[in-house]
Amino acid sequence: MKNTSWCSVLHLLTCALLLGSIQAQSRPAADLVITNAKVWTVDKSLPEAQAVAILADRIVAVGSNAEIGAWRGPHTQAIDAAGKLLLPGFNDAHVHFVSGGLQLDNVQLKDVTSPEEFARRIGDRAKTTPKGEWIMGGTWDETKWNPPNIPTKEMIDAVTPDTPVFVTRYDGHMGLANSVALRFAGITAKTPDPPGGTIVRDAHGNATGALKDAAMDYIDKVVPPLSHDQLVKVVKRALAYAASLGVTSFQHMNPDYADIAVYSELLQRGELTARVYAAPLITQVEDQTKIGIRHAFGGPYLRIGAVKAYADGSLGSGTAYFYEPFLNQGNNRGLLSDEMHPVSLMRDRMMAADAAGIQLCTHAIGDEGISMILDLYSEITKAHGVADRRFRIEHAQHMAAKDFDRFAQLHVIASVQPYHAIDDGRFAEGHIGHDRSSRTYAFRTFLNHGVRLAFGTDWDVAPLDPMQGLYAAVTRATLDGKNPNGWFPEQKLTVAEAVEAYTMGSAYAEFQDQVKGSISVGKLADLALLSDDIFSIDPTKIRDTKVLKTIIGGKIVWDADTAKVTQTRPSAK
Ligand SMILES: [Zn+2]
Repeated sequence: MKNTSWCSVLHLLTCALLLGSIQAQSRPAADLVITNAKVWTVDKSLPEAQAVAILADRIVAVGSNAEIGAWRGPHTQAIDAAGKLLLPGFNDAHVHFVSGGLQLDNVQLKDVTSPEEFARRIGDRAKTTPKGEWIMGGTWDETKWNPPNIPTKEMIDAVTPDTPVFVTRYDGHMGLANSVALRFAGITAKTPDPPGGTIVRDAHGNATGALKDAAMDYIDKVVPPLSHDQLVKVVKRALAYAASLGVTSFQHMNPDYADIAVYSELLQRGELTARVYAAPLITQVEDQTKIGIRHAFGGPYLRIGAVKAYADGSLGSGTAYFYEPFLNQGNNRGLLSDEMHPVSLMRDRMMAADAAGIQLCTHAIGDEGISMILDLYSEITKAHGVADRRFRIEHAQHMAAKDFDRFAQLHVIASVQPYHAIDDGRFAEGHIGHDRSSRTYAFRTFLNHGVRLAFGTDWDVAPLDPMQGLYAAVTRATLDGKNPNGWFPEQKLTVAEAVEAYTMGSAYAEFQDQVKGSISVGKLADLALLSDDIFSIDPTKIRDTKVLKTIIGGKIVWDADTAKVTQTRPSAK
């Protein structure tokens, strides 16, 4: 055996070196490396780096160009980021994904500034709408008109004599039906207001066409549901749009089961190009408790195990539930949702969800609405003991001063949408005054109290583009241009804080902070390469920043160079 002498004492060092090089050679090469980037990791153990190596769907190394260079092999795809900013992919903690997808093709009313324009756009759409189909969506905003009156059916009846119309206010808490739609829904002067809803009426008691909150259900019942093929098309359209904006994960609030079925189908076909956490309505909580699944049940592309509840309505519709009345609406203090009639109904459902290990995500906007949900969360903790529940309050918009501490003590996540702040900031003080507005979208106060923030958009209530949300959180410059230095500027966040809320914060809110939300070794390779360094540019320019590339699970799903979205992954994982 002529090689016996190799491992003599004298040659031990050589031996060790040889072994080391064999190990290096046996390490697999990366599938993808990104070099020359300004990598902002959102990982405190290594906040910044130059380059990232990806193997299969995971990040395997983060470091300098030289360190990552060692991961290159003959088949490694390389991206030279040319000094651009690389962030973890954005995780939108609160979207209505199918409504958003539908809205991409619906009549557009959000930027309408007069009743005449409102009627003209709906009339134009009616001309091209096939017989029997509805005109829906719209997301109108009457505060942009002068005077800002809620629209009535009379404004659109003449241009839609045969077409049913139900166009919703941008906050989703009010809609306008034309006479055809009211007739389909059977709404007359005699129809009572449902619990948690209002049929807006004229001086003679006749419906004006405007329906608030639970009253919108009358219409929902008569609108034909989307066919399966239509739904698949809408979801794919929305996925492509999300990819182009760097949104790699989203949390779908109150999806229909049919929506989840479409995600599941696309997952199996390898066409689900974003990671989904779906939270159906709490009214159906028994379906999930029966199966015995717990929070965040599923795989990296599709999870369930949360429920979405509603405490109240919205600020703009005058239905957020407050301790004190709105300033400009008589004695109106807002409306508790139908799920809160009676509160014991909500308590029972929440207790059932929590006992089964299902996560609670509750929409609460007015200060008393939020407070009532904190009461219920506190009761749950007392009844079922301490656990890692990650209670969420969606929107958490107008806080009572007394409740910030409670929010923190109960470890409730504030799942907030910064764009709403620069939108509602236009009119909030007129509705609720200065004092309550000072605790409105109070992101800084939440952080000071140790409350975790998760950022989202509420799309289609607000734009899906994360850059608009980051811009809003950092500048708080209202959309009307009246607060260039920030509306309640003491509540502004730094870019780093805003990015963290949009990545790690949202991942934490869906129990996925161990597997995504930062650019860290071992985590899923979900990344967004930006056109500009949002940390160094003028904050007002953040909203103009574009996403150059979006990578999900190591695959490029959006490339601005070719303006191309890749809607398939090689294999469903
Ligand atoms: Zn929402």
